[in-house]
Amino acid sequence: MIRTKRKIYKMPSRKPIYEGKAKQLFEGPEPGTLIQHFKDDATAFNNMKKGTINGKGVLNNRISEYLMLRLHDIGIPTHFIRRLNMREQLIKQVQIVPLEIIVRNFAAGSFSKRFGVQEGKAMGHPLVEYSYKNDKLGDPFVTEEHIYAFGLATPQEMDEIRMYAFRINDFLSGLFMGIGIRLVDFKLEFGRLQENDREIIVLADEISPDNCRLWDSTTGHKLDKDRFRQDLGEVEDAYQEVARRLGVLSKNEAEGSYVIAVNAKTPRARKTKKAAMKPNSKPKAK
Ligand code: 5GP
Repeated sequence: MIRTKRKIYKMPSRKPIYEGKAKQLFEGPEPGTLIQHFKDDATAFNNMKKGTINGKGVLNNRISEYLMLRLHDIGIPTHFIRRLNMREQLIKQVQIVPLEIIVRNFAAGSFSKRFGVQEGKAMGHPLVEYSYKNDKLGDPFVTEEHIYAFGLATPQEMDEIRMYAFRINDFLSGLFMGIGIRLVDFKLEFGRLQENDREIIVLADEISPDNCRLWDSTTGHKLDKDRFRQDLGEVEDAYQEVARRLGVLSKNEAEGSYVIAVNAKTPRARKTKKAAMKPNSKPKAK
């Protein structure tokens, strides 16, 4: 038998910068850029619950790309530069403001628990809450007084962050309403970016079913990470459904070969995967 020597291709090594629960950051190809890699790992309740949602990283990469591009179109500055591949996007390196900005349109989650308000009850108007990004402390809720006392952000930065949060909420509520989804609440993160000798605030992190509560407008069916948090099942289906309604999956993917294409390494799957990487940076929302 003739043995041929197999070539071993080595992935170019990249400098890891940070590893979070659902994403990893690597050094980017140019100074001031980073590569954001979306993982399938899922955690909840401050890391107490851990699991995997098959294909989540690929879907969140697409969903977040789409939403960041739409927000850029309406004048919200973001860290997003472009999608690189199935799981990665090129972003601008920013200094993260250590706050989670939570916008709520309907009561749910920790709000319902803290105030004894029934899930789904509409807020009179969108409510913004802040929590201090600190895993050890369990991301405690803070007021603007705390934020200034601890020097987490300046009053000018908070004015800008609040203004962006409301604009993002207005726009995304409408966009999701158009595809039969109610935007119940979501979490944003912002960063500081040096641009032309001045520092600006830009939207960072991601926007996806990992950090938004998305309910079907008609049935109230949950299409977000609460399916994982609350063991509701059909978690992958929920993420896929959001991607499908946003129109960010190609026809093949939307028709169901998607999870196979993401997870399997068969030649057929690789072919599907390649097809899925055709540029589609500006799909239209249905
Ligand atoms: P709650 O405070 O009700 O748990 O969360 C409010 C909203 O913010 C939900 O959409 C939730 O997904 C998001 N959120 C709050 N904290 C986090 C967090 O640490 N990680 C992620 N991915 N989302 C969060």
